[in-house]
Amino acid sequence: MAELRAKFWQNLPLEELNEAEWEALCDGCGLCCLVKLEDEDTERIYFTRLVCSLLDEASCRCSDYKNRHQKMPDCRAITLQSLKEIEWLPPSCAYRLREQGNPLYWWHPLVSGNRDSVHSAGISTRGWTISEQGIKEEDFEDFLVANPFDSNSPE
Ligand code: SF4
Ligand code: SF4
Repeated sequence: MAELRAKFWQNLPLEELNEAEWEALCDGCGLCCLVKLEDEDTERIYFTRLVCSLLDEASCRCSDYKNRHQKMPDCRAITLQSLKEIEWLPPSCAYRLREQGNPLYWWHPLVSGNRDSVHSAGISTRGWTISEQGIKEEDFEDFLVANPFDSNSPE
C-alpha cells in the first residue's frame, strides 16, 4: 500500500488521496455502523442504538473489514461516489468534513496522534450502543433513538 504523505488530511483534497490515506482518514467512530431503519413511505432514516454485529464494540472498528461486504451485504463502502449519495453519515465523519472542505476536529486520531481521542471526546459509538447480534429484526424499533448526532456534535 502507498505511503501516507505529510498532513495529507489537511493538505490534500479527497480526490488526491491514495488508498492508504483514504483508509487512514477514517476516525474510527463507528457511527456509520449504527443500525438504521427506513420508513418505506417517506424514505426517512431513523437511527437506533444498535450497531452492526461485525462492529467490535470496544475499538469501534469493523472486526472483519476485509470481508465485510461478503458478510454484510448492506454495508456501504465510503467512496467519493457514495459520499454524494449517503445522507446518513454523521456531520463529524472525516470524509464528510473533507468533502465539504472543512478541517478535521482536534479529537481525530490523525490530529491528536492518539487513537483513543475520538472515544474520550464522546464522538464514537463506545459506551452507548449495543450489538444487533441476537436481537430480532422486528424488535429493532425498540431501540430507536433521537438523532444521535445532535448529542455528538463536536465543538
Ligand atoms: S462515520 Fe466516517 S469517520 Fe466515522 S467510522 Fe464511519 S467512515 Fe469512519
Ligand atoms: S460490516 Fe463492518 S464496516 Fe460494515 S457496517 Fe458492519 S461493522 Fe461497520
